[in-house]
Amino acid sequence: MSKISINIATGSLQQAEIVVGIDLGTTNSLIAVIHPESKQAVALKEHDSSSLVPSVIYFDELNNAIVGDNAKQFLEKTPERTIFSSKRLMGKSYNDIKENEFFFSYKVIDDDTDRLVKVQVGDKFYSPVELSSYILKELKARAEHILKTSVNKVVITVPAYFNDAQRQATRDAGKLAGLDVLRIINEPTAASLAYGIGINQTEEKTIAVYDLGGGTFDVSILTISNGIFEVLSTHGNTYLGGDDFDKVIVDYWSKEFNFSKDELQQNKQLMQGLRIKAEEAKKHLSHNAEYRTNFNGDILTINKDKFEQLIQPFVNKTLDSCKQALKDSNITINEIDEVVMVGGSTRVPLVTNAVSNFFNKKVNNTLNPDEVVALGAAIQADILAGNNKEILLLDITPLSLGIETMGGLMDVLMPRNSKIPSKAARQYTTSKDGQINMRISVYQGERDLVKDNRKLAEFNLTNIPAMPAGLPKVEVSFLIDADGILKVKAKELRSGVEQTIDVKPQYGLTDDEVEKMLMDSITHAKDDIAIRALTEARTEGEQLLETTEKFIGKNAAQLSQDEMLATAQAMQTLQLALTMNDKNLIQTKIEELNEISRPYAERIMDNAVSSAMKGKVI
Ligand code: AMP
Repeated sequence: MSKISINIATGSLQQAEIVVGIDLGTTNSLIAVIHPESKQAVALKEHDSSSLVPSVIYFDELNNAIVGDNAKQFLEKTPERTIFSSKRLMGKSYNDIKENEFFFSYKVIDDDTDRLVKVQVGDKFYSPVELSSYILKELKARAEHILKTSVNKVVITVPAYFNDAQRQATRDAGKLAGLDVLRIINEPTAASLAYGIGINQTEEKTIAVYDLGGGTFDVSILTISNGIFEVLSTHGNTYLGGDDFDKVIVDYWSKEFNFSKDELQQNKQLMQGLRIKAEEAKKHLSHNAEYRTNFNGDILTINKDKFEQLIQPFVNKTLDSCKQALKDSNITINEIDEVVMVGGSTRVPLVTNAVSNFFNKKVNNTLNPDEVVALGAAIQADILAGNNKEILLLDITPLSLGIETMGGLMDVLMPRNSKIPSKAARQYTTSKDGQINMRISVYQGERDLVKDNRKLAEFNLTNIPAMPAGLPKVEVSFLIDADGILKVKAKELRSGVEQTIDVKPQYGLTDDEVEKMLMDSITHAKDDIAIRALTEARTEGEQLLETTEKFIGKNAAQLSQDEMLATAQAMQTLQLALTMNDKNLIQTKIEELNEISRPYAERIMDNAVSSAMKGKVI
């Protein structure tokens, strides 16, 4: 039975609760819903206007936030109060973005390099989460106005390469906008759903999703089987898109019509005017052979051949990414069943033809490429609202996840490419007698030493009952939920003491960094193995010194003077070996100490056993 209620604010009948899909984009955002009658996904728009809401926020002098088309006009007029591309800042520290700082015309705060970035407008500071929440609030208001009902539950899409911090930040932005984020899903997954790929549960397919927007590019390889989507690999360039096409046209005209670089740099209006004409030319050339316009008395022209020649290098770069993504997923071109086109720049015929030629296949480009991600999100939202049978969405972790163990070693609980959602657990113990706290440090990366990986979180499991070293059983478990958010739990199994945290990393990783970390792990594999062996030998040596000392302390009376002397000497040489970077030497010294202590240790143990037996009737 479906619930029917009345919306008091609007007086409209409400059939169950509506769940909408949101594409929170770098340049534009939009909201879509399944039409109650046609059952088709539609992007919401007011009358004849566009469904796209520019992801731009202008803060007026009273710090009121104005979002969308009304904010866009301030990009030129008041750049320091007009925020665009806030998605690029999600889950990032200043360190992460400083190379691309030139890109932002507003003030990005750089006071503390490892903390999450903030944006300064006047005397106010805004986090990327707050900025995104303004866009989400605007989308919510738009949907409520059009649908005449309250909208609280949403599915939001993120790029497949978004890491845990960025997904968490997106979820938080939703919360801040008063939305219940039912799920975060990957943009390529949403795009596939929009084309109906994966809706049929018996379908087994491998898909490439090619997404070329205004400022970003990525390609993802996915497989679908039994209604489960799995992202096998993703590759791209977060600073490549349609804006580059506009720029090469501007450069071309500047040369043709002798605008000097200085003139263009100084005269912002001239530059902006040219840029607008360039974008117009690009769009015109998607359907025509030539573009011609009057610009301040000059006739600017460009034909399709010239335009294609100018943008060919960018298109080639995207094809290189396609090659890399295929390689990373171990998939050959012939295994790709479908190619899905996403993003406004895939309207350029050269792009579509190049991608189609590359994959040797007709591409899916019949839906509006600006809307397809939101449409897919709406389909997923409808599934979650209970109006459609559940389709599982499965992703993978881009990097391994683990914790720090003795000697600063990385102990991997979840190897990279683990499926999401997933669970992993392992038991650890204490290294000191009476140890009542255990620090759990969570890391992400492929290197053997945690110092080469990235720390995601740290917490203390406290109140472990005092026990001899090695006795407590501390189970550390990792749980990654369907949104790709990691929960870490540590539980001492004997006492039941436990501690849980949601991992909200201090800063995120760009896809370039993920790639770099993977490359580093390959380059340093040999060094890492050597360092791991050395660290393990050191840890073993330190533990042996500690137990020997304890043993002698307790049993001094039963040791001969010679034994005492030999042990002290062997301990000293082992101690010295521990300070050197020689694994073999440490192992030899460990063996020597063991050789010396073994006879008396056995003798003392035998004595202990026989005295324990004394007086007992067998
Ligand atoms: P998106 O980021 O997906 O909204 O894509 C926006 C980009 O698509 C911008 O660079 C637009 O200039 C570009 N775009 C939109 N329509 C067209 C078109 N008809 N031909 C070429 N590029 C287009």
